[in-house]
Amino acid sequence: MISRKRILITGGAGFIGSNLCDRLVRDGHYIICLDNLYTGSKDNIEHLLEFPNFEFIVHDVVTPFNCKVDEIYNLACPASPYYYQLDPIKTTTTSVVGAINMLDLAVKNNAKLLQASTSEVYGDPLVHPQKEDYWGNVNPVGIRSCYDEGKRCAETLCIDYSIQKKAKIKIVRIFNTYGPRMMPNDGRVVSNFIVAALKNEDLEIYGEGDQTRSFQYIDDLLDGMIKMMATGDEFTGPVNLGNPNEFKISELAQMVVDMNETNSNIIYKPLPGDDPKRRRPDITLAKEVLNWEPSIVLSEGLAKTIEYFRNKVR
Ligand code: NAD
Ligand code: UDP
Repeated sequence: MISRKRILITGGAGFIGSNLCDRLVRDGHYIICLDNLYTGSKDNIEHLLEFPNFEFIVHDVVTPFNCKVDEIYNLACPASPYYYQLDPIKTTTTSVVGAINMLDLAVKNNAKLLQASTSEVYGDPLVHPQKEDYWGNVNPVGIRSCYDEGKRCAETLCIDYSIQKKAKIKIVRIFNTYGPRMMPNDGRVVSNFIVAALKNEDLEIYGEGDQTRSFQYIDDLLDGMIKMMATGDEFTGPVNLGNPNEFKISELAQMVVDMNETNSNIIYKPLPGDDPKRRRPDITLAKEVLNWEPSIVLSEGLAKTIEYFRNKVR
């Protein structure tokens, strides 16, 4: 029997957040889902509104928030490069001021806070695969900086709150994650390719397609996040959560075309600035401390995601 906790999930109406809400509501916890609906949608959590242990509040994390809570998952922040670059000042503000507000709330409640950080803190990495002790190669004045530096600063704040104010913090560095509830027009590569294939439209590869990413299915990530939250107060991370199987973007495009039996063509567009060339997590730490590793291979996760989008797109 697990003890029932009051858990706040910021960004709870987004892709990862809404899947996390599902999991924790099902586990019997009381969930407060906070979101300003910038890239999230009420559709993602509509089915949870009838549950007595679920509450949805439209709120922007840049404004302080007060409630009684045992755990906080701080996910609020657009994750798609297209959306986080639309209003870069807001993106940095969300990460930095949002983290301060949630850390203050955690301290007030003596609650644990898990910060959703990102593989983007490694920038365009010069070390491969990426281990937690790598400091990264980040451009502070580029088009991705609002996100990368905002997330790096949020990590700094977490560690400083843990030292200065004894906050109980956990930092997870999430690598490219995909699955049901990504927005069809989200702009990220997996959803873009699947939606294009389902519509028999061209799949657009940015650059030559030889840049790599390591794609993790949502369910694996949720397992890792929940295990991380359950660790003792002495373990703060950061810890990488990602799938170490690395694919070229051109390989991903071909897989999606093959799995959809589509008439779509693969075409090439210019590569945006500062696009990381290679990315793969070293997950030794997560294996050791969390006894966690992903179990869903790309073909299996893509099949589930295609099924989800099939109903959305047509
Ligand atoms: P998402 O865009 O689907 O979800 C983000 C949610 O945060 C949305 O519901 C959005 O409306 C909400 N939000 C944005 N700004 C807010 C604000 N100021 N106040 C309140 N809510 C706000 O993205 P996601 O993929 O679900 O990502 C969730 C978190 O995980 C983000 O912090 C992201 O940086 C992190 N992350 C995701 C990935 C990934 O591959 N999906 C990788 C690394 C890190
Ligand atoms: N990408 C692409 N076509 C798309 C969307 C993205 O080729 O329609 C590329 C993008 O340039 C990057 C990779 O796919 O090299 C992953 O992009 P995404 O936005 O999903 O995540 P991130 O770059 O933040 O890892």
